[in-house]
Amino acid sequence: MAAKSSVHYAQDTNQWAKPDRPFPTLHRVFALLPEEPPMPTAAVWTVGYGAWPTARRAERLVEALSSRGVTRLVDVRLNPCASAVKPGPYGPKPWTLQTGAAGIASTLNAAGIAYEWLVELGNPQRHDRSMTILRAHLADVKGDWPVHRGLVRLATLVQTSGDVVALLCACADYHACHRTLIARALAHLHFDGALEIFDTRTGKLITLDGDVA
Ligand SMILES: [Zn+2]
Repeated sequence: MAAKSSVHYAQDTNQWAKPDRPFPTLHRVFALLPEEPPMPTAAVWTVGYGAWPTARRAERLVEALSSRGVTRLVDVRLNPCASAVKPGPYGPKPWTLQTGAAGIASTLNAAGIAYEWLVELGNPQRHDRSMTILRAHLADVKGDWPVHRGLVRLATLVQTSGDVVALLCACADYHACHRTLIARALAHLHFDGALEIFDTRTGKLITLDGDVA
């Protein structure tokens, strides 16, 4: 971007640097430059661990976050805790929230990544693919809904923490996950659209508009 502008500056300077024309003030030079849209000044990543095989899931998650420079993981699962105390498919896993040295928080901390659970950003209807309640709450921007309290906290983290922030959910595909709704709402409600959203696994830029299903 800077290189492009300097080319215009050089051309315009030559145009004005004739004996019969006064050299323009800097203000007038800038007035000659084409207007460009403001550059996004912030970014947020999203990640879903479901794409990785269970045997190496936690390890791959940490690897992916580290490779993108993520320094703070914001968990947007409604319930990141293991739903049963016994081992098994629903028992405690390295990617569930546990106490002590087990679970996702300590795994991330050992890799230099802060962990924060924002329960307010969870999908209140986990088994409703249409996410009716979450969508209604997001659309009611003046309502005092949990999601808006969570978005305020998330915006503060992205703007002022100095961390590279990623949103975590279980869903492998961001196209089908509420975290994409959350990230887009963050961009529109708190960054006036000047926020880039990236998929951690693929590095893909996620559009600010569109739907998830
Ligand atoms: Zn999800």
